[in-house]
Amino acid sequence: MKIKPISKWIPNLKRPLVIAGPCSAETREQMMATAKAVVELEDVRIFRAGIWKPRTRPNSFEGVGEKGLQWLKEVKEETGLLVTTEVANAGHVELALKHDIDILWIGARTTVNPFSVQEIADALKGTNIPVMVKNPINADLALWIGALERLSLAGIDKLVAIHRGFSTAEKTDYRNIPLWRIPIELKRRLPELPIICDPSHITGDRNRVNLVCQKAMDVDMDGLMVETHPQPDEAWSDAAQQVTPTMLGEILKSLKLKTEFSHDRSFDQELNDLRSQIDRIDSELMENLHMRFNIVERIGDLKMKNNVTALQVHRMDEMIKKVSDLAKSMGLRGQFAHELYHVIHEESVKIQTEMMRSFLKKDTKDSE
Ligand code: PEP
Ligand code: MN
Repeated sequence: MKIKPISKWIPNLKRPLVIAGPCSAETREQMMATAKAVVELEDVRIFRAGIWKPRTRPNSFEGVGEKGLQWLKEVKEETGLLVTTEVANAGHVELALKHDIDILWIGARTTVNPFSVQEIADALKGTNIPVMVKNPINADLALWIGALERLSLAGIDKLVAIHRGFSTAEKTDYRNIPLWRIPIELKRRLPELPIICDPSHITGDRNRVNLVCQKAMDVDMDGLMVETHPQPDEAWSDAAQQVTPTMLGEILKSLKLKTEFSHDRSFDQELNDLRSQIDRIDSELMENLHMRFNIVERIGDLKMKNNVTALQVHRMDEMIKKVSDLAKSMGLRGQFAHELYHVIHEESVKIQTEMMRSFLKKDTKDSE
């Protein structure tokens, strides 16, 4: 995938790149008040506002529509900030382009639908406008990458990913559970793709936005998109999670930035040393597992000769309990040992059932 570095299309880029602005455009006054306040914060380079809002239930506020695009244009002219809004279909794209919106974003509810993403990609052909793609609401990395690929194939190379957390049926402390391993895996697969974190939709709670901003910096994300409103409690959508411009300023000031590489040589040395210890332990772990599975095969042989099934539930329960207790006594999490041994035990059973199957095949061949 061809991705143009963000520094090539946003001048004087610094980390973090901050996108601020309300969940929804409500009135011209609200937009101007927010924009004039956030432009004072040095890191804020892009102003966001939703014009068309995907809402869970009908008859809630669904956005001001086209007139909001005019307000975004005014924000751009008055403050010099770049402006961005969400598009969900070809009609939105056409209107956003007509009003000179600088950057578009695709929302989480749209990324899940390849038909919609393709419709947007087709409408964008020949423009090369920057596009930010939020993760799909479900934890499906392939779907997220697929959406980026559709845009890339349409000739868009100014691409950005936005991590906004994932919907889950479980009750958690988050509005959308972050599952950091997913954006981290995205970064591993597409290292040149900038990733921005949206702590507002992850937490759903303005008092915890700062924690997720810091975590995003700790995992080396490139920027933050923070919903900001002059009177958050009065907001027409997502009231609980929006911060005031003053709060945003405080959050940004409090961030501790780390770099991926340190220039301190003794740090590098110590890190390399610790990493080689980890590598050694990992190879010992593998050797031990290899030995364990050799024994599993010998047990498999014995079971076959005595006509015994591969899986014996009581043995599995006993073994998993034993290792969980051992792990706990060493100060490890019992649950961790439990999950790990489920996987190891599953592999053992697989090895033995596989042995039995090939034995049966051989047996029928011999008797033919
Ligand atoms: C938004 O940014 O206001 C929005 C609707 O976000 P998401 O697509 O992440 O739900
Ligand atoms: Mn919102």
